[in-house]
Parts: sequence; structure tokens; C-alpha cells
Amino acid sequence: MLLNDFQPRPRLEVKQTRVEQPRFPVIDAHNHLSLPFGGDWDSRPIAQLLDVLDAANVRLIVDLDGGWGEHKLQQHLDHFKAAAPERFQIFGGVDWSAWRDDRFGEQAADRLRVQASWGAQGLKIWKPFGLTVRDQRGDLVAVDDPRLDPLWQTAGELGLPVLIHVADPVAFFEPIDQHNERWEELGAHPDWHFPSPPFPAFMTIMNGFANLVARHPQTTFIGAHVGCYAENLAWVGALMDRCPNFYVDISARISELGRQPTTARRFFMQHADRVLFGADASPNVDYYRLMYRFLETDDEYFPYSLRETPPQGRWNIYGLHLADDVLAKVYHGNAKRLLSIV
Ligand SMILES: [Zn+2]
Repeated sequence: MLLNDFQPRPRLEVKQTRVEQPRFPVIDAHNHLSLPFGGDWDSRPIAQLLDVLDAANVRLIVDLDGGWGEHKLQQHLDHFKAAAPERFQIFGGVDWSAWRDDRFGEQAADRLRVQASWGAQGLKIWKPFGLTVRDQRGDLVAVDDPRLDPLWQTAGELGLPVLIHVADPVAFFEPIDQHNERWEELGAHPDWHFPSPPFPAFMTIMNGFANLVARHPQTTFIGAHVGCYAENLAWVGALMDRCPNFYVDISARISELGRQPTTARRFFMQHADRVLFGADASPNVDYYRLMYRFLETDDEYFPYSLRETPPQGRWNIYGLHLADDVLAKVYHGNAKRLLSIV
């Protein structure tokens, strides 16, 4: 038998809790919505989408896909925001391909003002920033490049949070060999491998990120996927301690959090005011319920994914069994304050 074919079934007899409804209403602060036209990765009529959100008690969803261009932003505002303004927030973005000279930061800030006037309620920065985004000379733009200061400052002045994803799982920056814990995932997605060189090292990106957040205390940054470094909650927690303007979402990382339940639980308790719920998965009742089970129960050793083969690595997770006051903040309290939801 090849190791690839090995699919052991745990013989552990432990409690299995079915969580139908979250203990408190939920705001999903990190997701991607698909238009029912135009080649998005999933599409359904808006009434169907709202049914899913209702069934999972998700009151509001932050749609980050407006950040893929101003045309797309307008489409998402027209389609989702206009149909149910109290259920959706759409974030705008930066068109890096328009970088022509050293004044790009000011131009991006101007575009952000325009996007806000259309109804964008935040700024989404995608992971090419720090990895592949280049300036007019073809040089890689560092995450803490001062030429972009006007952009971050303007987001702060407008009261728009910046939801930012830089780097990726640490293993994506390491050689694809027998020691790489995401070997299967990288096999399925070779374009997710960022060896250095030519890419910057993981910690180069993360140190730039920490500088960026510290340099703009008036701007709120939400570090996607547990501050972009779920493997190292001590690092993320230290940056949160240093920077009151730094928040994190937990999207697409219950796999990481749930394999270090003691550390993760402590992290949630210590930073309860700055952790946001987010799924980063096409809205699906079963996946929301899995996240609720992870946050609410003390169930042990269960799959973090609905897929047959766990996509991020062959391990299981443990529930965090968070107290009600922490859950209420993570599920909606923090997002409400941050996203100015009344
Ligand atoms: Zn995402």
C-alpha cells in the first residue's frame, strides 16, 4: 500500500456534539461572495444565500471580493449591498497594476476615497502584496514601503478597517520534501509554493507587516487567518499587545488553532476583544456548524474540514470550549464595534 492510500479511521470513542446554532448571533468578517454571473467560483440567487445565512444565524457577512477591481466592487455593491444592506458589507481594494511612480500611495488613497463614496466599508489587501507586487522599476514592494503611507493613513481617516492577508502558511515557504507538513496541499496547488529566492523569506514579510501595523496606530488592521501566522500564536499575541490597532480573524485556520487547543484557548481569552469570526468558505450551513462546534464544545479529535481528505494536513482538531463572554465578543461583539454596525 502506498502511504497516499492510507486512510486510518480513529477508533477513539469520544463525545460528538452536534451544534445546530451558535450560542450568539454571528458576523462573518471574512468571506467571498459570488455573483450569479461573470465566472465567479460559486453562484446562487441572493434569496438562497440569505436562507443559508439565516439557517446558520449569520446576521452579516463581509464580502472581500470588491477588492479585485473597481468594476467588481461596483457589481458586488449593486448585487449584494443594494439587495440587503443590513446583511452585507463590501470591501474595496488597490489596483497594483496601476503603479507608475513614487506617488502611487497618494493615488491609491484617492481611489479609496472614491470607493468609500460608492459604499465600500473597508479595504482588502490580498496576498500578492509583499510577494509579487512591484513598483515602476520592477522592484518588489515591501509590506512596510513608506510610499504607501498615504493609503494606510487615509483608511484610518475614513474609519475603514484594512483586512490584510500577507504571506501564507509557513510550510509554503519551505522546500517541498519529506519534512513539509503541507506536502499534499502543495502537490495539489503547486502555485502556492513560495520558495526564497525568488520570493522573500516568510519572516521578511512578517517583520514588514509588524512594522506597517506599528507605524499606523490610527489605522485598524485585521490580520487575516489569525494574523497571517496561526502557527505561532505567541508572535501574533505579542504584536497585538504592542499594537492596539491590530485585530485578527480566524478564517480558514481552525485546522491550525484546533491542533494547539491549550495555546489557542489562552490566546482567545487574552485577546478576546480583538478576535473576529470569519469562515473564508463559500457560505455553507455545515461548515458554519463545524466552526461553532470548534469554538463552543470540548469535543476531541474531530475533522476540521468537511472534505474526505483534510486539505491542509492530515491531523484532527480539539474544541476550545470558550466561555460565553468570549464567544459573544468573537461571534459578533468585536466585529460590530469595528465595522460600525448598529
Ligand atoms: Zn479569504
